Amino acid sequence: MALVVRPSRIHAAGVFTTAPIRKGARVVEYSGPRLTAEEANRLYDGAPRTYLYGLEDGKTVIDGEGMGAYLNHSCDPNCEIDEIKNRVWIFALRDIAAGEELLWDYNLYDDEDPAPCYCGSPKCRGTMYSREWMAKMRRKARKKAEKIAAERQATRTQGEKAKTTKTLEKRAGTSIPKRSVA
Ligand SMILES: [Zn+2]
Repeated sequence: MALVVRPSRIHAAGVFTTAPIRKGARVVEYSGPRLTAEEANRLYDGAPRTYLYGLEDGKTVIDGEGMGAYLNHSCDPNCEIDEIKNRVWIFALRDIAAGEELLWDYNLYDDEDPAPCYCGSPKCRGTMYSREWMAKMRRKARKKAEKIAAERQATRTQGEKAKTTKTLEKRAGTSIPKRSVA
């Protein structure tokens, strides 16, 4: 494949093809050293940008380097990534013309740092996280909000109870008939 790294309008630098690519073609390998998920976490916790790709086994992470790791993300990509026999490849999703930037949908997951998307596609979902992950995050945020609301409600009910008790005590106090001293 005739690939070059050039400045990209989406993000810093991207990978472009200088020759047409046919739909379904294997474009480039996503290669790099293999780490365990724990090693990757230890190495890159808090890093602003990483080139990690988690394999389907859920244990191995490729620390991407070289051409395959430099493709930018798009919500409307012309490439896709796939794991075949423990190796990860980027394939053309459609016919790609010479000069086009190669893009795949990162579908990020397992993180909470913002990952805004600037792909500029009409289909842009505004983030590089996957729809599934965003749905999970929304569920988590909703549960948290519900918990906070429930806690607030509990505090309020307790407060009201305390107030009611006080009022009753006060009433009880005032309603005690005064003995006449006479
Ligand atoms: Zn986008």
